[in-house]
Amino acid sequence: MQIGAQKAVTIGYTLKDDEGNVLDSSDGGDPLTYLHGAGDIVPGLEKALDGKQVGDAISVSLSPEEGYGRRDERHIRNVPLRKLPAGKVQVGMQYQITTEAGPMLALVTAVRGDYATIDANHPLAGMRLHFDVKIVEVRDATKEELEHGHVHGAGHQH
Ligand SMILES: [Zn+2]
Repeated sequence: MQIGAQKAVTIGYTLKDDEGNVLDSSDGGDPLTYLHGAGDIVPGLEKALDGKQVGDAISVSLSPEEGYGRRDERHIRNVPLRKLPAGKVQVGMQYQITTEAGPMLALVTAVRGDYATIDANHPLAGMRLHFDVKIVEVRDATKEELEHGHVHGAGHQH
């Protein structure tokens, strides 16, 4: 069965940066199952997997635009500490914030006086991504999965 729209696809993958450092990998854990065509994975990887089948292995290098997008300076702001949840605010903490684009995860990158600098860019935004992927399984997505826009089963509970 070939990978295409409305297929549930299981892949083993390793993601590296330009220097060859491993950023993420399914090795030693569960492979990733996603719904093809639903934007569950970065666009460049979804495109590279289109038409592939079980047993195929691919290596792709993606520009930031094909990955998690460019870093956007508008997603970095200074907020008064009183607007963040109570408790000591420290660099490295993450908060769920609400923006015009919906909820985003923001990382505290600095704390000065009564203000914290928070960065809501994806940690991998602005980076070139190098993926090594092996296709493990391809099946038809269920009606319910298509309605939800994601796969069910391993790793996903309602
Ligand atoms: Zn669901």
